[in-house]
Amino acid sequence: MIHIPDTILEEIFSHARSESPDEVCGWLAGSLRHGFAERNGGGRGVEGLNPRVMRFESQPRDSLVEKAYSIPNIAGEPKSRFVMEPEAQISAMRKVRELGLELVGTYHSHPGSPARPSEKDRELALYPDLAHLIVSLAEYRPSFRCWWIAEGGIVEVEVERGGRLV
Ligand SMILES: [Zn+2]
Repeated sequence: MIHIPDTILEEIFSHARSESPDEVCGWLAGSLRHGFAERNGGGRGVEGLNPRVMRFESQPRDSLVEKAYSIPNIAGEPKSRFVMEPEAQISAMRKVRELGLELVGTYHSHPGSPARPSEKDRELALYPDLAHLIVSLAEYRPSFRCWWIAEGGIVEVEVERGGRLV
């Protein structure tokens, strides 16, 4: 499960609106609340198994999103895909480290389609350990869903809204 404070969701929604009809993208940083192994009854069973496969059958580790970092979308066709600008990624990573946070996910927007991973999203999901939050502006109100994408497959990640930052 991923916990996202409303203030951060609002930040992401307004970022998405500001560039619509182009897609926007960014990183989500925060802290991991419980280890994956803990949630599955102890670490022992996990050893020796491909952690990707293990995780893929379950949910990613519990995490609390504490910061969103917008990254410029440099895709050639920004209306239907996104490519994160490398320099901005490096500087966001640096900030994440300085704050002692971890990368817990990515976000991007779908200005005109539902909040489900597109074919491109599945192909280009380079981070099997991260949750991928997708914001849809297709309806009057923005909506979002969160996904875990690994080896072309997708699993929806539970999201809990709210949660205060400490
Ligand atoms: Zn997408």
